[in-house]
Formats: sequence, structure tokens, C-alpha cells
Amino acid sequence: MAENPLVWNGHIAPLILRAMADVYISLAWVLKDPLERSRNFVLYGLGQAKLQLEHRKAQIGDRDPTSEEKMMIEASESWINSQRFAFLTEVNVGGWSGIPTRRMAEEADCIDFYNYVYTPFSACTHSMWHHIARYNLRQCANPLHQYHQVPEDPEFPIDPYNLYLSAKYLEKTFSAFDKKFGIKLDMPSAFDHLNKGLDRLSEIEGDEIDRMDESSNMTEDA
Ligand SMILES: [Zn+2]
Repeated sequence: MAENPLVWNGHIAPLILRAMADVYISLAWVLKDPLERSRNFVLYGLGQAKLQLEHRKAQIGDRDPTSEEKMMIEASESWINSQRFAFLTEVNVGGWSGIPTRRMAEEADCIDFYNYVYTPFSACTHSMWHHIARYNLRQCANPLHQYHQVPEDPEFPIDPYNLYLSAKYLEKTFSAFDKKFGIKLDMPSAFDHLNKGLDRLSEIEGDEIDRMDESSNMTEDA
């Protein structure tokens, strides 16, 4: 997010922010029973990797794989095997935690975060009606058309608030980890650092607007 200001808009930023909310809820839930739940998390990921590999093999079927395909399959197999022997890896269908994200949020005491962050950003992530109707429709100006909606694809301005939100969720995630494991740091966090930078930016911007006002007044006086 920090390195790509062009994505700080209502179409792209929610994709990242929703994924970050997902990470926070998952971590908060894992931290309630770290050993067992982190193990499930890893095993589920390995199971998914194995499933993808099997799909790829099935797609190749009876024909000889190309050298690229062979390399890809071998690399994938050795990655899985390096963590756990492939034949031991179960393939689970469904979510890794075995419960929906909402339940995880309830159990991890962050249902507010689920309701106010995760769910609203899901609208954009899944291109749901309440996202696209707001962002990609406008009312037709012709009164004879009974105010129907017409499609549009407007340019959105860069909104630094999206950067702020991403930093806030990251801070929230780090804090949950630090709290659980009793980690105390004296140095200012990345979040503090960013906030100071954003404050400085808005001061500079404020000064510039003042200067612009002054110079336009001078022109008017002249
Ligand atoms: Zn019309």
C-alpha cells in the first residue's frame, strides 16, 4: 500500500484492506490456542498445495508432461515434502479453521472488527451490488428517462486515508501478537512513524493552500 499510492482508491484499496482484516481475525483466533490452531493453519495450506498439484497432474492426464510441467510438478512436490511427506498431508475441503470467519471473530472477541471492517470491504472484493451500484452507476440527467441509472467508470482521486487504514490494521495485528507473548518495545511503532509523517504532510499542504490563497488575494487586489 505504502509504495503504491495509485491503489489508494475505493476499488483497489478494499481488496487489500479486506485481506488484512482477514489476517487480523485469523491471527486473533489462532492466538486463543496458538499451538493447535497454527498447526491446523499450516496443514491446511499444505493440503491445498497438494490438491492444486493433483489437479495439475489430472489436467496433464496420460500424456507426457512437457519439461516445464515436469519441473513445476517436481518443485511443488519437493516444497510440500520439505515440510511434511506428501502422503501424510490430508486434503481438507472447506475453511482451514473449520468454522466461518464470523464465528472466528466472535470467538476472538473482534466481532466489531468483522462487522465494521471485514464485511463492508467484502462488498468491493466480491463486486457485490452495493459496491458496483455506488461506484459504477450514475443517474441519467435526462428527466424523460425516468431517472434510470447508467454505467460509468469514473476516475477516483488518491485518498491517503486508505494508507492510514492499512497501517492501522497492521498495527492492530502486531499489537495482538505482542500482547499475547508479552513483548514490550520502547521504540515508536511503524504506525506512530506514519502518523507523524501524515501530520507533517497535511501541515505542508495546509501551508501551501494558505500561500495560494494569499497569492490569489494579491492578484485580485492588483
Ligand atoms: Zn437516460
